[in-house]
Amino acid sequence: MVNKKNTAILRAELAKRRRIVVLSHVNPDGDSIGSSLALYHFLRQEEEREVSVIIPNDLPAFLQWLPGAGEIIVGKHAPVEAARLIAAAEMIFFLDFNDESRLKKLESPVRENRTAFRVLIDHHPSPVIKADLLFSETRVSSTAELLFEVLGALDKSVPDQAVAVNLYAGIMTDTGCFRYNASYPNTWKVVAELMRAGINIDEIYTRIYDNYSEHRMRLMGYALDKKMVILPEKHTGYIWLTRDELESYGYVTGDTEGFVNLPLSVEGIRFSALFLELGDKIKISFRSKGSFAVNRFSAAYFNGGGHHNAAGGECAMTMAETLKKFESLIGDFADEI
Ligand code: 5GP
Ligand code: MN
Repeated sequence: MVNKKNTAILRAELAKRRRIVVLSHVNPDGDSIGSSLALYHFLRQEEEREVSVIIPNDLPAFLQWLPGAGEIIVGKHAPVEAARLIAAAEMIFFLDFNDESRLKKLESPVRENRTAFRVLIDHHPSPVIKADLLFSETRVSSTAELLFEVLGALDKSVPDQAVAVNLYAGIMTDTGCFRYNASYPNTWKVVAELMRAGINIDEIYTRIYDNYSEHRMRLMGYALDKKMVILPEKHTGYIWLTRDELESYGYVTGDTEGFVNLPLSVEGIRFSALFLELGDKIKISFRSKGSFAVNRFSAAYFNGGGHHNAAGGECAMTMAETLKKFESLIGDFADEI
């Protein structure tokens, strides 16, 4: 999975560089934050290194306890500091995304730094980020699993707690607790090794999944009862929530995490979507079971991308227009879903 040549290049380049920036994507999830923080702790084992994790916007509350999360620089709140660190970086890691547009406002400072050595570590298909060194592998559960292999190739010793907890959190969340994209034997081997490093999997589960606000649980109840549309003949289900509805439940980032999967638990449903009215756009998540490629669907019609069975996108139209477009597309794709 991680070849010797790339490992040797990474080791040699790391030895030459001191100021390092680790970047991940907008609307960060458990895999992007877990991977970034694991790499942060790993790199900081060398004391002379200056390592910064920078993300475009806030991380959800359920990830804020992860070791090192308090050190993350959020571009939206600290644009000057983020730009300064990116400009000074001698090495930039791109974790858990394949397209620079997912950096949002951090994209231009990254473009302007023409000298940093760029390393991509990601599990999305077909990366378009120009990197000097690529660790790109889709046959893994998560970026965290791939990063475990990269770090293991650099250093054979057992990962320390802060690295192991973050990697496990990344794998656990990206697989929805080992339900999606978790059928590669290597995933379970990595988990076994992280357990040997001494992590407490019950505690990590509880801190991530039993950590929701009462508001979020009631919003989920409302979404399921009043806002889930099931189209049995199309094997499709979706949930849609307007800005007013989100606000009336005191919505904060992360509150709708996992909602997109809910329609897939209805018998016969193989394609699901979640539409959220956020900012001046409709933010959309897609999930599928089986052969229907939601990343291609999202890229073709909703300006997005992602994985075969899990993708996201957005739409600049109103909610009503977006849903109309979606339902009409579902009609066209009925045979493939
Ligand atoms: P989620 O639905 O959980 O936000 O995202 C699912 C997957 O789709 C993730 O791998 C994420 O990186 C990708 N994704 C989500 N939104 C977008 C988007 O707007 N553009 C692209 N290219 N990928 C997205
Ligand atoms: Mn991921």
